[in-house]
Parts: sequence; structure tokens; C-alpha cells
Amino acid sequence: MTTTRSQLDERLRQIRWDLSAMIDLVAARVEEVTEALLERDVAKADALIIGDDELDLMSQEVEETCIDTLIREQPVASDLRAIVAALHMNSDIERSGDLATNIAKAVGRLQGSKADDRIRELIVQMGHEARYLFEQSGIAYRNLDAELAASIDELDDVLDDLHRDFIQAVIRGATHGDLVPQQSLQLALIGRFYERIGDHAENMGERIRYIVDGWTPERAGADRARARAADHTTAADRASHAGIGVDADQEVALSRGLAVIDTIAEERRIDATRRAFVANVSHELKTPIGAIALLAETLADADAGPEADRDRLTRHLSREVKRVGDIIDDLLELSRLEEHDPEAEPVRIDDVVHESVDVVRGLADAHGVSLAVVGVPSGIELEGERRQLVRAVVNLIDNAVRYSESGSQVTIAVDRLVDGAEITVTDTGIGIPRPELERIFERFYRVDRARSRDTGGTGLGLAIVRHVADNHGGRVVVDSKVGAGSSFSLQLPLPAD
Ligand code: ADP
Repeated sequence: MTTTRSQLDERLRQIRWDLSAMIDLVAARVEEVTEALLERDVAKADALIIGDDELDLMSQEVEETCIDTLIREQPVASDLRAIVAALHMNSDIERSGDLATNIAKAVGRLQGSKADDRIRELIVQMGHEARYLFEQSGIAYRNLDAELAASIDELDDVLDDLHRDFIQAVIRGATHGDLVPQQSLQLALIGRFYERIGDHAENMGERIRYIVDGWTPERAGADRARARAADHTTAADRASHAGIGVDADQEVALSRGLAVIDTIAEERRIDATRRAFVANVSHELKTPIGAIALLAETLADADAGPEADRDRLTRHLSREVKRVGDIIDDLLELSRLEEHDPEAEPVRIDDVVHESVDVVRGLADAHGVSLAVVGVPSGIELEGERRQLVRAVVNLIDNAVRYSESGSQVTIAVDRLVDGAEITVTDTGIGIPRPELERIFERFYRVDRARSRDTGGTGLGLAIVRHVADNHGGRVVVDSKVGAGSSFSLQLPLPAD
């Protein structure tokens, strides 16, 4: 069924008129409920609670009119905005009415409390501010005044500040024993109710701006994203690289659109990575912690068996505890690497190599693997953080030892490159299948899970190495052949002279 434009206009006018009346009603209710609260007037509060039905009824009518209009009329873009915004405002107003009713309900529960003057004064101010915000949004709506609507956001800050002071006053009252816990809680809730009424008024301001010029908070977010992205390559640049011609207007729209998509895609990616990481960490820790719990229980049991069994269990327990410790240690290292740029101090590569070899020597001896250092002294000095570099080289030697057979040798070589230096750790161990080479630098990725675990791996060693390389402007290169061995090179740039 089609109706004429004037009928549509009439419906829209009706919706606006009804909503304005509801806004005025809520503003008045906020005023009245504040009075009832200060006067501890339970009868007045009860009347307000009953009166809430009237507001619900009005809200229901507005909702029906809006939906009816959407279905029966053929609203064009700006009318659609008016109706969609009206539906949202309707629920903002209704909820604010509910909040005022909640305050009224608290009046009865506050009987006998001794709120001090400061608390009472803040209630007066919060009530005043909440009412004022509502009135302003009513005026902005009636006049479709986008500027006034936008200012509600700032006006709401006053209420937020009052609310903060109020909560502090209530806490002080509770601490000094002037208020019993029940009453403090009621008062704290009341403060929160006022604050939320302000939030709804702020929402209404946003809806009004949407009606007037299509402004949405999402779009404000998009503008911020665009400003951030403008520091990097602009989307228009990318479009022109791709051979897409853009004129000036399109350029703005395009760059904004792409910037938003970029930011969203990036945020989603980070989010997904973070979730996967948390899941991985939990999974990695679950197994050893489960084992620890079981072993500890068995050991605590007086009938655990002969001394030899107890020793075995204890050793097992220590191993699992060490594993948890190692994982946590590596996780902390990773987060340190992510948070801080490395120190830029002069570091001698020879010192890094010697210190790293010293750290791994014990493990190598235990595995029956010998360590050979070649090309040192090299005299090469670079800029970076010695601790990080040692950690990276230790991880490489540690892996070389753990994935080698007893009786073999691991070589650590230092070489000068055209524009940098290289530390290469070579083993003749099990090697890594080619398709896995891409993945071994990922956190918790292992080619052979069981072997990594048996040899005390955390699955984070190479992720740390790559991070250290990145932090120093370098890279890690790997070459490996299954059954023949692997060679990892940490390549680092040298400082310009
Ligand atoms: P892990 O603690 O498990 O050794 P890393 O991040 O250090 O974790 O290494 C990831 C995976 O890469 C290992 O689980 C292993 O499968 C493989 N790997 C690393 N270094 C070597 C090596 N020198 N020889 C064979 N495989 C290796």
C-alpha cells in the first residue's frame, strides 16, 4: 500500500512530537525523584513508580508507529534515518524512565540512613545535571540542532565528575561508619543510575546528529582511523599503484574506506592472534601442571612405595616444574622483547659468542655433543643489547645440541658480511623438512612435538631469536636437510661509520 508524502510527513511529525513529550516527562521525573529522595518521601516515590507505566505505554506506541511507518510507507534515506534514530531514542528514553524508577525504589530502602550534607548536595547536583541533559536533548531534537546535540557529550562530563565525587563521598561515609553497608550500596547504585541517565542523554545527542547529517559514532571512529593511517601509505597511493584513477573527492572517500577496512582487518588479525596465543599458552601449561598435580598427590600419599620410587617421582616432578618455569621464562622474554626497543650499546660479537657457549656448555656435555667456535676473534662490534643477543645465540646453540646425536659436533662461526656480521650455528643433527622451515619460527610450533618436549623445549626459542633479529634490524636465515643437519644464521647490520 502506498501513501502520499504528506501522510508520511504527518507520521514522522507524530513520532517526533511523542518522543519530545516523553523526553519532557522523563526530565520532570528526574526532578521529582530527586526531591522524593532528598525528602525521604516514600509516598511520592511510590507514585513515581506507578507512573512509570505511563511512560512504558507511550514508548510502546512510538515503537509501533515507527515500525508501522517503516512497513507501510516508502521512506527515503533521510526519513529512514529519522525513524531508525527514533526507535533508538525511544529505548534510551524508556530506559532512563526505568532508571528514575529505580531511584524511586531506593527511597524506601534508605529510610534511617544518615547521608551527610556533601552526599545530599551531590545528589541535588546530579539530579539537576541529569535533568538538564535531558532537556537539552529535547530542545536539540525539536529544533534538529546538531550543534547542541554534539555539545551534550561534553555536558555529560560534568555529570561524570559529579558521579565520581559522589562515589568517593559514599566510600568515605562507609569507611567512617556513618553509613551501614546496605545504605552505602543503595547510595552507590543511585549515583550510577544518575550517571546512566546522562549516558542515555548523550546517546540521544548522537542519534539527533545522525538524523541531521548522518553522523555516526562509527564514522567518528573511521575518521580517527584515517588520521592514523595517513601516517603510512595512503590508500589513494595504493589505488594509484594498482592503476586505479581517483579524483580528489573519491580519494578522500576511498582512503577513509580503505583505512577503516585496514584497521578493522588489522585489529581482527591481532585479536585472532592473541586468542590463539592465549589458547596455546593454556594448552602448553596444562599438561605439565596436570602432571605436577598428579605427582605431588602421589608423593603426598604415605603409601607411595619404596624410596627409589619416591626419588623417581621427585625427579619427574622437578622436571615438570622446570618445564613450566621455562615456558614462563620464555613468555616473559617475548613480552619484554615486544615492549622495549633494545639498548643501543656497543657490543662485541666475540663476547656474545663466548658468553653463549658458556651458558650451553653444561647441556652440551650432558648430551655428549662438542662445541667448536670458529672465526673468533673477529673484532666485530655492533650496536645493540648484549643480553638479547646472547639469548638468541644461546637458543640457536641449545637447539643444535638438543636435535643432534651424542658424539656429534656443533659449530659456531662468526663472519663479516658486506654490510653486517653473521653468527652461524651448524649441527649435523636430525634436520628439518623443507615445508616446515617457514613455520618453525612461529610460537609453539614444533616439527616433532614429543621430541621437543623430551629434550626440554618450549617451542618459543626460535620465536625469540626472530624477535631479537627484528629488534636489531637483522634477520635469521635457515638452511636444513633432513638427516644431514641444520644451519641457522643470525645476520645483523653493523652501525654506519
Ligand atoms: P623448541 O623449544 O621446541 O626447540 P624452537 O622454537 O626453538 O622450539 O624450535 C621450533 C622447532 O624447530 C623445534 O621444535 C624443532 O622441531 C625445530 N628445530 C629448531 N632447531 C632445530 C635444529 N637445530 N635441528 C632440528 N630441528 C630444529
